[in-house]
Amino acid sequence: MIKFDKVVKDYPNGTHALRGVSFEIEDGEFVFLIGPSGAGKSTVEKLIWREEKATSGTVFVDGKNVNELKNKEIPFLRRKIGIVFQDYRLLPQKTVFENVAFALEIVGSDQKEIEKKVPTALSIVGLSKKADAFPSELSGGEQQRTALARAIVNAPDIIIADEPTGNLDPKNSIEIMKLLRAINNKGTTVIVTTHDKNLVDTMNKRVIEINKGVIIRDESNGGYDNEQ
Ligand code: ADP
Repeated sequence: MIKFDKVVKDYPNGTHALRGVSFEIEDGEFVFLIGPSGAGKSTVEKLIWREEKATSGTVFVDGKNVNELKNKEIPFLRRKIGIVFQDYRLLPQKTVFENVAFALEIVGSDQKEIEKKVPTALSIVGLSKKADAFPSELSGGEQQRTALARAIVNAPDIIIADEPTGNLDPKNSIEIMKLLRAINNKGTTVIVTTHDKNLVDTMNKRVIEINKGVIIRDESNGGYDNEQ
């Protein structure tokens, strides 16, 4: 479970990014985090994986107050979380297989594990045939599917996708959403930030809407726009 309780985040330059945010996300939920640019969505995500620390209030991930984690404990938190970014962030000099394998190498997996887990992850995202391709040889959709394979290869409890379809056309966007939904259906918690009204409306999942650092709507089976 992820639990924010009265979380305030001020950046050192004085920006009030979050002004008292509380919500709970149960294990296995699918949640859209929406709101205009600058609303505080990325800050919520960064607090979850402890890239940032709350100014006040508490952030719990799987029962641990992440604000209180020691530096040496942070890698264990991050192992539970797979992250997908709008701009894919693949290593250009590595193949698809090697990009996905890299996520296992940095947590100390051996070759045997890599040879078992990478093909499984690539098959889930439908990229088995592209294992030896380099990112520059892939379409945007294929690059994002590679990033998704990299995010799931460690079997994380939580996937956080930051504008995962921001650079994709509608067809590839739907493809990525379907994959996220399939991953969620197997029990992984999925949190997606997006500006894509169509996708949010189609998926009919929980919507948490943030504006100016405050939650203005939290609706199960919501759409992009408030129905009221
Ligand atoms: P969103 O993801 O919804 O676009 P962010 O969480 O990135 O919003 O940003 C929320 C607010 O915090 C914005 O005003 C942004 O400019 C500010 N902000 C984000 N990161 C930093 C930072 N590292 N230093 C200072 N201000 C920041």
